[in-house]
Amino acid sequence: SIAVTGATGQLGRLIVTALLDRGVPAGEIVALGRDTDRLAELAGRGVVTRRADYDDPDSLRAALAGVDKLMFVSGSEVGRRRPQHANVVTAATEAGVGLVVYTSIAHADTAGMRLAAEHRDTEGYVRDAGLPYVFLRNSWYLENYTDQLDAYRKQGVTGAAGDGRVSAATRADYAEAAAVVLTGEGHTNRVYELGGAPFTLTELAAEVAEQTGEPIGYTDLPADRYADVLVTAGLPEGYAAVLADSDLGLARGELEVGDDLARLLGRTPTTPAEAIRAAL
Ligand code: NDP
Repeated sequence: SIAVTGATGQLGRLIVTALLDRGVPAGEIVALGRDTDRLAELAGRGVVTRRADYDDPDSLRAALAGVDKLMFVSGSEVGRRRPQHANVVTAATEAGVGLVVYTSIAHADTAGMRLAAEHRDTEGYVRDAGLPYVFLRNSWYLENYTDQLDAYRKQGVTGAAGDGRVSAATRADYAEAAAVVLTGEGHTNRVYELGGAPFTLTELAAEVAEQTGEPIGYTDLPADRYADVLVTAGLPEGYAAVLADSDLGLARGELEVGDDLARLLGRTPTTPAEAIRAAL
């Protein structure tokens, strides 16, 4: 069977449905989450559901019993993920899982942005455990931008990314690529740098301006001032600082990747213009 962690989350859920779409029988998919009540809809479709909490090694051991392939969606509790992810890798090793597919971050081995460190270390845990792996080093989600269209239309696009280019792609495209890897052959111990065609935030603003007919531009700020803007908009200080730091990484090219995603999908990923049109 194929187990998917984070199935209560947005990407994990899309990966489960992508596996179903590719013809994997529901009874061979194990959807994992901390709160199995939130997996009820998938259970209704015949998917096996089990509780798995990254902080609870016993739950992970039970959840991974008999699993052949593990789709390991990285956790969302930034700063707590080293011990949590180490627990997942230990449980996968004990269960004798035959393949671990981990959602990492673009250029995890070299990126200087703070968000990359926990991913780099998690890749290390998987390698050190000797588990067969595939690392899906995902760039940004296009939804990180399209979810903010209302704010863009009021205040324009703001960031600290300079002229850096970001290879953002939709969650659905990353999920489909994961399903391709989980159901295909020849991916073992490969590292894929995944994302769409790269664009600058100036180009993003221009596309929103074009589609809305409104005068929307990009304002580039020093990282600390951008963090202040995010705090004023209601984000917690720590999270604002991480996002501003990520924009500096974006400026250094750390979220720009080649065409591995298009090659896995066998088609062009959804473009920013298409995603903006769908969101408007
Ligand atoms: P979501 O926040 O929608 O989902 C995160 C999932 O991780 C949820 O199912 C959540 O469970 C689960 N999770 C978090 N902590 C634990 C834990 N301790 N034990 C078990 N499960 C846990 O994020 P997405 O689906 O959008 O993205 C998937 C991952 O990608 C994120 O977790 C993050 O690592 C990374 N990410 C990537 C971004 C990008 O632009 N590429 C942007 C944001 C995140 P629960 O529902 O119980 O909280």
